[in-house]
Amino acid sequence: MVKEVMSFISKYDPEVGAAIGDEFARQKRNIELIASENFVSEAVLAAAGTVLTNKYAEGYPGHRYYGGCENVDVVERIAVERAKKLFGAKFVNVQPHSGVSANYAAYITLVRPGDTVLGMNLDHGGHLSHGSGANFSGKLYNIVSYGVTPDTNLIDYDELRRLALKHRPRMIIAGASAYPRVIDFAAFSQIAKEVGAYLMADIAHICGLVAVGEHPSPVPYADIVSSTTHKTMRGPRGGFLMTNDEEIAKKINSSVFPGAQGGPLMHIIAAKAIAFGEALRPEFADYQRRIRRNASALASSLLARGFDLVSGGTDNHLMLLDLRRFGHTGRDMERMLDSVYITANKNKIPNDPENASLTSGLRLGTPSVTTRGFTEDDMDKIAELIRLTATDLAGSADYIRSEVERLCAGHPIYR
Ligand SMILES: *Cc1c(COP(=O)(O)O)cnc(C)c1O
Repeated sequence: MVKEVMSFISKYDPEVGAAIGDEFARQKRNIELIASENFVSEAVLAAAGTVLTNKYAEGYPGHRYYGGCENVDVVERIAVERAKKLFGAKFVNVQPHSGVSANYAAYITLVRPGDTVLGMNLDHGGHLSHGSGANFSGKLYNIVSYGVTPDTNLIDYDELRRLALKHRPRMIIAGASAYPRVIDFAAFSQIAKEVGAYLMADIAHICGLVAVGEHPSPVPYADIVSSTTHKTMRGPRGGFLMTNDEEIAKKINSSVFPGAQGGPLMHIIAAKAIAFGEALRPEFADYQRRIRRNASALASSLLARGFDLVSGGTDNHLMLLDLRRFGHTGRDMERMLDSVYITANKNKIPNDPENASLTSGLRLGTPSVTTRGFTEDDMDKIAELIRLTATDLAGSADYIRSEVERLCAGHPIYR
């Protein structure tokens, strides 16, 4: 199916078709270790390419601003019901176009410009939408950042409480993009309650783990839970929001539309519905367990080869390599790995001595390789290829590329 679609596009528009074909070849050839990426099922991919892209459906099922919405209403209701069931949430909005769009809607639901918001420091693993000066969040709100302790690199809940008592934020955000350990949503909730702040939990990265209980859920604790659908959740590129509070749910709906967006992407909502349906099957829980087992195996294999990991390992789907001992910056290591067909991204580490464009860290995650069927033995092999890249790229590049090719050929995607 994937190949047929591509050959159709190539005949119709060779210029775009060639670029898509090249990207497909890259995805098949490379070992994908970017922690925020995944390979969706053919059904999710197909739904995203349907005629639903033609439909305007501003509003919500049963209350639209356009005629002819009876079929897309069915699709959106299925997506909402499946997400409610999957996460045990009372109210779900599946319209946000992306994680940042979902977060924007969450902010405008709970806080006003100028209000104080406590979010995780970007350099300690937070996301740019949690208060970075380059993002709307850092421009519109008075952001106070919390982080990890210098000794353990775990979230410093004592500091969080101290900052909350001192600054009396209107909202606290729990969630991260590069934090390899369990987030204690109950502790966040206790602190938020103590200072009378709203709690927003952003589970963009760990969504799939949360769905099946491989990471504790914030749904019972947070006023709003925001997420993407395309990371561990393995759905189409997009976002969604959850709450158990009916009043907040009504506000979320008007914050998403008309507050933050116009017409929803109904083809993507169909793909989200399919992904939520897949996640309700027992195989998905098994998949999430395998993601964690692979991450843990990759971490152990890297530690055994002399790599430093921030916080010493991982509890979830990702890990953060501290490259200083190997004398590479994150940017250089990312490029070196790219040259041998292993894909990852540079990342700041807590208290990074390098600047943001270089970094001392590299983030690695196992959602994509696990989707491909890689096992714990393969993780040991990958750790060895990463070690060779870091220590003897010139002497081993051909060997590494041939090993990557062999591993990927054993676990094909979109056959
Ligand atoms: C990835 C991520 C987002 C943003 O998602 P986009 O779809 O890229 O906008 C938001 N929050 C966190 C914690 C993330 O990791």
